[in-house]
Amino acid sequence: MSKATFPEERVNQLRALINDYNYQYYVLDEPSVPDSEYDRLLRELQALEKAHPDLISSDSPTQRVGAKPDTGFAEVVHQLPMLSLDNAMNELEFKEFDKRIKNRLNDDTDIEYVCEPKLDGLAVSILYENGVLVQAATRGDGSVGENITQNIRTIKSIPLKLRGNNWPQRFEVRGEVFMLKSTFDKLNQQARAAGAKTFVNPRNAAAGSLRQLDPNITAQRSLSFYAYSMGLVSEDFELADTHFQRLIQIKQLGLPICDEVQVVKGMQGCLSYYHSILERREQLPYEIDGVVEKVNSIDIQEQLGFVARAPRWAVALKFPAQEELTVLQGVDFQVGRTGALTPVARLRPIFVGGVTVSNATLHNMDEIERLGVKIGDTVIIRRAGDVIPQVVSVIPDKRPIDAQTIDTPTNCPVCNSVVEREQGEAVIRCTGGLICSAQRNEAIKHFASRKAMNIDGLGDKLVDIFSQLGMINSLSDLYRLQHQEIAQLERMGDKSAENLVNAIEKSKATTFPKFLYALGIREVGEVTAKNIANHFFTIDAIINATKQELESVEDVGPVVAHHVRSFFDNELNSNQVKELMELGVHWPEIEHKSETELPLKGKTFVVTGTLEGISRSEAKAKLESLGAKVAGSVSKKTTALIAGANAGSKLKKAEELGIQVLGIEYLLSL
Ligand code: NAD
Repeated sequence: MSKATFPEERVNQLRALINDYNYQYYVLDEPSVPDSEYDRLLRELQALEKAHPDLISSDSPTQRVGAKPDTGFAEVVHQLPMLSLDNAMNELEFKEFDKRIKNRLNDDTDIEYVCEPKLDGLAVSILYENGVLVQAATRGDGSVGENITQNIRTIKSIPLKLRGNNWPQRFEVRGEVFMLKSTFDKLNQQARAAGAKTFVNPRNAAAGSLRQLDPNITAQRSLSFYAYSMGLVSEDFELADTHFQRLIQIKQLGLPICDEVQVVKGMQGCLSYYHSILERREQLPYEIDGVVEKVNSIDIQEQLGFVARAPRWAVALKFPAQEELTVLQGVDFQVGRTGALTPVARLRPIFVGGVTVSNATLHNMDEIERLGVKIGDTVIIRRAGDVIPQVVSVIPDKRPIDAQTIDTPTNCPVCNSVVEREQGEAVIRCTGGLICSAQRNEAIKHFASRKAMNIDGLGDKLVDIFSQLGMINSLSDLYRLQHQEIAQLERMGDKSAENLVNAIEKSKATTFPKFLYALGIREVGEVTAKNIANHFFTIDAIINATKQELESVEDVGPVVAHHVRSFFDNELNSNQVKELMELGVHWPEIEHKSETELPLKGKTFVVTGTLEGISRSEAKAKLESLGAKVAGSVSKKTTALIAGANAGSKLKKAEELGIQVLGIEYLLSL
């Protein structure tokens, strides 16, 4: 964005933008830009106002929180304003916060802080009179919120009456209404199935659900709540003199508080808490966008007081943003093992989710259409945890006039073969098969992978190098690699070459199901490969099997049968199999077992918990060798559950469904 030359112009521009974004975020519950962009603009405005105090006006978004609601709810005036929190974007800013407090107090001793996760939901105030919930309100603009009493009453963890009988005449509690990640996923799944609009993130889903004029809708959304502070409390109640003890008082009165809350000493204590929560961020059942550090002593809090929109005694130490804005500079199509062309967004590099990202997946052409994205667009990228970065939406206002449409390729970008799109499929595929070097390389990587031929030390990069140098052009070429030629490669050396040659040699001794899986036939995963191998016993029998014969294998339908048939009908593939076997790939013969030797045929087991003296995979192999099927979850079709120590949800499910539960003794008796 071009910055206006005069601070006044820029200040006005920023205020207009921020007010717009506030309206979309707080009133419509439909943000149009990621929080990171909003935060940057707000900080720029704060900095400008600091440098030019004459430009500060009382209606500036820096002087207030939120936005004035204009919904159909009645207004609630907050007796004690509901403020926001100052942000620290990094450790340095947090250290400055800590230092500022010490300077103000004129005391250098470590401060005791309470650390809390910064829940990503919306702030509410709940008022109890004589122990009974009488009113609940959103924060609104900090002074006036919306009356959402009926909606708050639908949240099961919020008591309608306080516990015990020692409550103040007036008790106002404040906290965050939020949506669990699991609830959010379910809600969006339902919306997708119904062709309805999905929510951008759990915060918006929570806000949208709480601010419904019909409380029945709120009730269906299963919202959650944690209390984190008190508002105005009548003087007939003795309040504790630390924030933490006050949280305990809140809990004793029957309101839930987050169990991650901790008291720590000094800045270092806060930083270790921050890092430990950041590490577990993905595993927490709710979304958080940072941690809040609050001075524990109420006495010190009172000494420090407030500034315009936030207390001086607390700060939100933010996590790296998971959503960012960047520009889509181009789209490449990557060719996978089965020829599928995946569009990959080439982005202007951007720091998001703690790393610099320059590519993101666009999944398929349907997704490109759904997003309505063009090359040159400003897009929102999301990177959460280890999940591949995604393009989540486009900012239409920022589209340049020369934005280009993303065309479906007609030819493979690697081998130039024609691409095809099967009816009803979102995926487009290169028809080149093994003449396509991209498909070949991916096929080799799959062949060498752990669950397939398990060639230790043959990583993806090495396969690419061997292929580029023309050292391997097919699966069988792997077994023709010579120690000498590998050792000559840069950064390889004698020892690594020897290890690799040994690993390749060792991989020759495999099992039939693994070999079949390693061939990388479309739709033939580990389980299907096992079923086919155990049905036909030999590779020749599979090569000669008709589609009908293939379909008689458990779990094999017309599609898989078709893929198996067309794989072996391609001479290149059947020759590969022959060559691999000639080069020494072998496996122990599969025993023909009669029905009597397979006493568990037709039965389905599930194994759970810790079994004494035997691993779960050994237990699974044992059951399968006797003809049983071993499933991953308990259902009505389960014959019995074999449960070891510490069995959890599967045991509960089996008991609910009345499924037989067996112990380790059963396995031993087999
Ligand atoms: P804030 O979310 O940064 O911090 C204050 C809020 O934190 C409180 O009101 C409360 O709701 C919440 N909170 C969570 N856990 C808490 C705890 N343990 N103790 C105390 N408070 C806790 O401030 P804000 O003023 O609500 O809003 C700013 C946020 O909203 C920013 O993250 C901003 O990016 C986002 N925003 C985004 C847009 C947009 O267009 N994308 C627009 C407006 C605001």
